[in-house]
Amino acid sequence: MKPIGQSVKLGLIVCQHCGRWIDEVETEKVTVLYGCCREDSCRNGKRQGDIEHD
Ligand SMILES: [Zn+2]
Repeated sequence: MKPIGQSVKLGLIVCQHCGRWIDEVETEKVTVLYGCCREDSCRNGKRQGDIEHD
């Protein structure tokens, strides 16, 4: 049994190219981070410090 209510995730990671929701992370405040989704059209796009997720 895991304790409930201690792991609220407020950080959203969205694709900087298409705006698709990619993932969420635990942060201290509401935050939107930009990364790159797995769509070929986005992955083949220009790289500007993308957040890599394997
Ligand atoms: Zn994308």
